[in-house]
Amino acid sequence: MTQSIESAAAILDTVVDQAVRGLDLASKVRLLTGAAMFSLADEPSIGLHGMVFSDGPTGVRGAEFVGGRQVALFPNATALAQTWDETAAQRVGELLAGEALAQGVHVVLGPTVNLHRSPLGGRLFEAYAEDPLLSGRLAAAYLRGIQRYGVGGCVKHYVANESETERHTVNSQVSEAALREIYLLPFEICVADAHPWSIMAAYNDVNGVAATEHDELNNGVLKGEWGWDGVLMSDWGATKTAAPAANGGLDLVMPGPKGPWGDQLVATVESGEVSEEVIDDHLTRLLRLAGRVGAIDGILPARTAEPSAVRAPDDPLLREALRTMAAAGMVLLKGQEVLPLAASAISAEAPVVVVGWHGLSTVLQGGGSASVRPPHEISVAQGLTEALGVTRVRAVDGVVVRQNPPPAAAGMVIDPLTGNPGIRIVSYDAAGAEIGSTSAEVPELIVGMGTTAHEGAAEIELSARLAAPPGTPLLVGVRGDGDWTFRYGEDSETFTNPPPAGTAEVGFMVPNSVTRVVAARPDQVLSARLVVSGRYSLAGLVVEPAPAPDDDAIAAASLAAQNAETAIVVVGLTAEQETEAIDKTTLVLPGRQDDLIRSVAAAAQRTIVLINSATPVLMPWLDEVDAVLLIGLPGQEGGHAVADVLLGLAEPSGRLVTTFPRRDGDGPAWSVTPTDGTLDYAEGTRVGYRGWDGSGVAPAFWFGAGLGWGRWEYVSAAYARTESGESVTVALTNTADRPSREVVQVYWRPASPDAPVRLVGYAVADEIVSGEQRTVTVGCDARAFRLWDETASAWTSPGGGTLLVARGLGDIRLEISRP
Ligand code: BGC
Repeated sequence: MTQSIESAAAILDTVVDQAVRGLDLASKVRLLTGAAMFSLADEPSIGLHGMVFSDGPTGVRGAEFVGGRQVALFPNATALAQTWDETAAQRVGELLAGEALAQGVHVVLGPTVNLHRSPLGGRLFEAYAEDPLLSGRLAAAYLRGIQRYGVGGCVKHYVANESETERHTVNSQVSEAALREIYLLPFEICVADAHPWSIMAAYNDVNGVAATEHDELNNGVLKGEWGWDGVLMSDWGATKTAAPAANGGLDLVMPGPKGPWGDQLVATVESGEVSEEVIDDHLTRLLRLAGRVGAIDGILPARTAEPSAVRAPDDPLLREALRTMAAAGMVLLKGQEVLPLAASAISAEAPVVVVGWHGLSTVLQGGGSASVRPPHEISVAQGLTEALGVTRVRAVDGVVVRQNPPPAAAGMVIDPLTGNPGIRIVSYDAAGAEIGSTSAEVPELIVGMGTTAHEGAAEIELSARLAAPPGTPLLVGVRGDGDWTFRYGEDSETFTNPPPAGTAEVGFMVPNSVTRVVAARPDQVLSARLVVSGRYSLAGLVVEPAPAPDDDAIAAASLAAQNAETAIVVVGLTAEQETEAIDKTTLVLPGRQDDLIRSVAAAAQRTIVLINSATPVLMPWLDEVDAVLLIGLPGQEGGHAVADVLLGLAEPSGRLVTTFPRRDGDGPAWSVTPTDGTLDYAEGTRVGYRGWDGSGVAPAFWFGAGLGWGRWEYVSAAYARTESGESVTVALTNTADRPSREVVQVYWRPASPDAPVRLVGYAVADEIVSGEQRTVTVGCDARAFRLWDETASAWTSPGGGTLLVARGLGDIRLEISRP
């Protein structure tokens, strides 16, 4: 087997070498910029097919940003990471490879291994954790899963890309030690343990140099020191220059076909600023990737396993896998004694009451380039109703949680021409003549920059009949900036919806809506006509039930809770906070969700709060409720997974992957707003729990915390050092009366107070039954014991210090000294 992999690699090297020699400079350079948004050029003379890339990391969206094909939506990165389970991460990679192969996608743009530096980061939901070891190990497993089927992974965003504010220009100022020990480490682990075929260079600068031009980090560390042979592609639109980027180690500019390379890069080679060997190296790497993913004639993809039959995104086995994974990653933060609920005690007379917008419209994914169009979205209310039956579940909407409503849900709009679900899009030229008419299932499209539904459109009109009984109060309107004319019945108005503050892409990723409340009139058509500008933006129709005033919603929820034995309040964030392109400004739950929880908790006999977010929120009501379960962004099967946990069919065995503050502003890093273009990573290596430790400020919940069903007595810990490395063998007993899974965590507190505590190993122990004592050996990762010596610019590996066996640093169970 090894022999054949090696010889396949040698054949590929020979083919690539010949191909590079067979092309002239202009033909070589042409291949080094994308051919379109998500695809590369072909070159028939060397048997090269155009490769197709698709965003990940929680589903393979395909080439369409909006309205593309339906694909499976996985639990988000933090939900997966909360399992601390590398086998699960590898399984996700394998399933994603299947999704990619089904669409002819060669490279999936994931995993994301940037870290949770400040909890305000808008895009943390896409990244695993605040700890580099956990992030790197999970990402490596995920990559092994994807690549074993011959689909490329792309680790992103290299490097120091932890927040979104001014993301295209921000200069991340990071010490050498923090880079090495924290931000580079997950990339280093991926390279060493999983050999990713591509990596994405970030938008930001690192210590004054653009990541796409960073000779020291790209050529020096990544390709030199780590010996990595893959393709370094730019983040979309991140490349600013020709020669500095080409010489600085960037191999491929994305997207294309326009960009700063092309003729300019050819000219820099002709002038001698860039040598042709540099171009050849970029092309060699690109063709090597093409060979690995099967895009060169005569070369078999570098897969080590045969892909199984491709499954549809709603295939029952896939659904089961997604449901199990989502449940396993949920973290029980409070109320072990309250859960699970006894289904036998729930009746039509004493139903479970589900309260809150997130209960009815559970948020299953974050916003931006990672989002996909799933085949279905199971809310908490739906999951519980399917499990218990309609008479035993009551769902009550809550307070308003979004400033800008999303596009109309399927089922709310009907194409007035065909009568089918969806909307009609009609385009007009500058003279007002109709130039195209299409039906669209998704009530939203991209406009500007040539991506409008019909080429040459000067105006587009979105229209629909509203699928609601006559008189129903509906919130209707438009989503997306620009000049609109809006009509419903006899009412007509013209207005300008200004773009939100920030870069143009904010308007694209997090658009503003303009809405009105109307009474549904099934005989009328709602239409919204937009003047197409050169801006890249979204145009969508909003149609949803008009929300009750918050006071009424809170009163209705409390009333329902009074009559129930158990109230389940589902609260959280939405893609207005957890999204690419913007950061958060607070961890306070949006709208009056805190008031809603307090009112329900005062009325109900028992209140269980489900937190539907990937990242920390504040819980000022924590002492007033009986249980708190973090459900994350659980993917398309989310509601079923929640029902499984609440009813005891699955254990919420997750452990936090990020520390939850008690108050806004607490923690080692808070602000994500650059000063004069620079974001100072002033906390150095004291990121996350490493910085909370010893700070004198207590968090609400520590990284690594989580209850599950078990109760644990940690009996003993023994240290060993062998040829294969250091390990700690832990004996522990489950003293609860039910089986449980434990994540045994080992931290190292170095002898020097200058170096912060850090996770050095973890192991999952499954199904420890009541009363059982289990012995678990936790292998410690030598890479986590290293300290970076800035004076010598080299690693040191000091001995000594203390090893802590802990369920997060707030619950240290055993300490042993390390020789
Ligand atoms: C994101 C990348 C993504 C790319 C392509 C960028 O805005 O930062 O993570 O892969 O777009 O959609």
